[in-house]
Amino acid sequence: MGEVDELRATEERIRKLREEIEFHNYRYYVLDDPVVSDAEYDALMRELVELEAEHPELVTPDSPTQRVGAAPAEAFAPVVHRSPMMSLANVYSVEELRAFDARVRKALSGEPVEYVAELKIDGLAVSLVYEDGRFVRGATRGDGTTGEDVTHNLRTIRSIPMRLRLDRPVSIDVRGEVYMIRREFHKLNEERRASGEPLFANPRNAAAGSLRQLDPKVTAARPLDIFVYGVGYMSDMGGGALATHLESLGLLKEAGFRINPNTKRCPTIDEVMDYCRLWGERRDTLDYEIDGVVVKVNSLAQQERLGTTARTPRWAVAYKFPARQATTTVRDIVVQVGRTGALTPVAVLDPVELAGSTVSRATLHNEDIIRAKDIRIGDTVIVEKGGDVIPEVVKVVTDRRTGAERMFEMPAKCPECGADVVRLEGEAASRCVGGMACPAQVREGILHFASRDAMDIEGMGPSLVAQLLDAGLVRDVADIYDLKLDDVASLERMGKKSAENLLTAIKRSKSRPLHRLVFALGIRHVGERSARDLAEHFATMGRLAAATYDELRDVPEVGPKVAESILAFFREPRNREIVRRLAEAGVNMEEAGRAAPSAPSPLAGKTVVLTGTLERFTRKQAEEAVLARGGKVSSSVSRNTDYVVVGADPGSKHDRARALGVTVLDEREFVRLLGEG
Ligand code: NAD
Repeated sequence: MGEVDELRATEERIRKLREEIEFHNYRYYVLDDPVVSDAEYDALMRELVELEAEHPELVTPDSPTQRVGAAPAEAFAPVVHRSPMMSLANVYSVEELRAFDARVRKALSGEPVEYVAELKIDGLAVSLVYEDGRFVRGATRGDGTTGEDVTHNLRTIRSIPMRLRLDRPVSIDVRGEVYMIRREFHKLNEERRASGEPLFANPRNAAAGSLRQLDPKVTAARPLDIFVYGVGYMSDMGGGALATHLESLGLLKEAGFRINPNTKRCPTIDEVMDYCRLWGERRDTLDYEIDGVVVKVNSLAQQERLGTTARTPRWAVAYKFPARQATTTVRDIVVQVGRTGALTPVAVLDPVELAGSTVSRATLHNEDIIRAKDIRIGDTVIVEKGGDVIPEVVKVVTDRRTGAERMFEMPAKCPECGADVVRLEGEAASRCVGGMACPAQVREGILHFASRDAMDIEGMGPSLVAQLLDAGLVRDVADIYDLKLDDVASLERMGKKSAENLLTAIKRSKSRPLHRLVFALGIRHVGERSARDLAEHFATMGRLAAATYDELRDVPEVGPKVAESILAFFREPRNREIVRRLAEAGVNMEEAGRAAPSAPSPLAGKTVVLTGTLERFTRKQAEEAVLARGGKVSSSVSRNTDYVVVGADPGSKHDRARALGVTVLDEREFVRLLGEG
């Protein structure tokens, strides 16, 4: 290609990029409904920045690289900002952060620089205008010069002061980020899903969509809040004495604004990096979304000298965390059969880079969710991976549909065993009725049994379990304890040493407490928590297996569904046989410290309330002693209370017991009843 042609091609590419970015700006800033992920948008923007850097002669003032955001929507009155609201230059690595530091130092001829690191709240920027200490106007950033008047909507945010708490009449433009906490965002999307409204892609879009409402009543109903992070303009009265960014944050706090508490002064860029690393790991502990760290030069005089480019200040930079959302295509929807036979639809995706790994599958949970989100095979979707959660499809970009997309149908037969698939009334999941005849259910059941929170058999992962099943060495969980060293060692890729390790791990698992075994059995509706309650209450597997419906219901937190499910489990001869074989193999069947009483205790079935301090027991020990004898412990006295045990300095429960005529026991009598006196 000749030079002229090449230039023409570049020009054409630049034109296309600008057009595309303008379109995405409109979708994002005006409609609050992006059709690509931020990562994809950022890639377009980066390409444009690079091309323009190579060809400065092609830069035009209206290029998106020279402008912030998008022009205000016509529905809102325009507000011209007293000082422009800028964007921030992004960096994605520590090297780029160092380069920023080097640029700053160079521009300041090597004088010492101190930074302030702040969380980059993922919301939308607003300007709050105060005249003589009163809130008069609030606006979105818009294109940086002119924003939208959203005063009425901002008034609905309780933490924005209507009057400054300062003793002087200051006129000031305050800059902050309006955001929605994650939990509320999920709730809002849930409601929208239920009522068939389009979903928001993330809390930022939800916050922007909520603030940019024509009816403030709608905004008021949306849970928005704000963190304030800077001053755009200030009258002389404000405090000409301010020398640093931290001091201005101090002033804003004094004036009554909400300031993010995690801001940190960093005398060196290394400390900035530590801060970035720390918050990169901790971001999930916050109840709001952050997408990075903002690094600012602390000295206001130095900020002034560094100045700004058309779009961004030179004294600040945004260190961006790896993106958690990406746009990709759903190639297919397949189903996975779980341990309870539930069929989980899974989206097979065009592989896409997400939060540092390549993602090619996302869970779709169940049929209802697929219908509600209207996910079709062939759709372009936004996927998200948060923390260590499995990737999920957040929403479909319906604007990208071509008409060739296909609806998903739940198969009528189990793809693993061919048994019927049924969906019970009131359940979201479709299930394979194959039970133990379904290889997938057997496999998942064994994996669950061996998993960390259950019997914790190290080394018994998916590939080994698959091998054991294929070789016919294991058919159910009891078979695990019959495994012989030679059998295991003969498996492919399994040396003698690993086989020995596995057998040691299996042997060690025999002494796990009862509650883990109860959980490991995979009884439906019995999670870790109820397994613990059940084990503590019944103390032995024998008593649990023999418990009647009423006895099961006596366990606090065990509802009808759980009780029914436990009964059904032990009614099934195959399950009883497995438990018998486990016991025979020497698997522990008791909860430590909860040996079953030989004769029924007088406390069995009785409700006991404890009050005051006992000499021989802590409160917990006393409770456990009652539970171990089949009694119940309650925290309040009622007519159904059988005994109130009174120690030293009893509370009002003692009075109430007397008033209701409930039998009161002192410690000596209590000990006698326990059968230990
Ligand atoms: P930005 O959000 O990356 O950074 C600048 C903004 O950070 C400021 O305006 C302010 O609102 C905010 N901020 C949060 N905490 C702050 C703090 N402590 N101090 C100072 N500022 C703080 O830049 P931008 O120009 O607002 O938007 C670009 C972002 O929007 C990119 O992430 C881009 O991917 C996304 N975007 C996406 C699409 C899309 O189609 N998906 C389109 C346009 C923009």
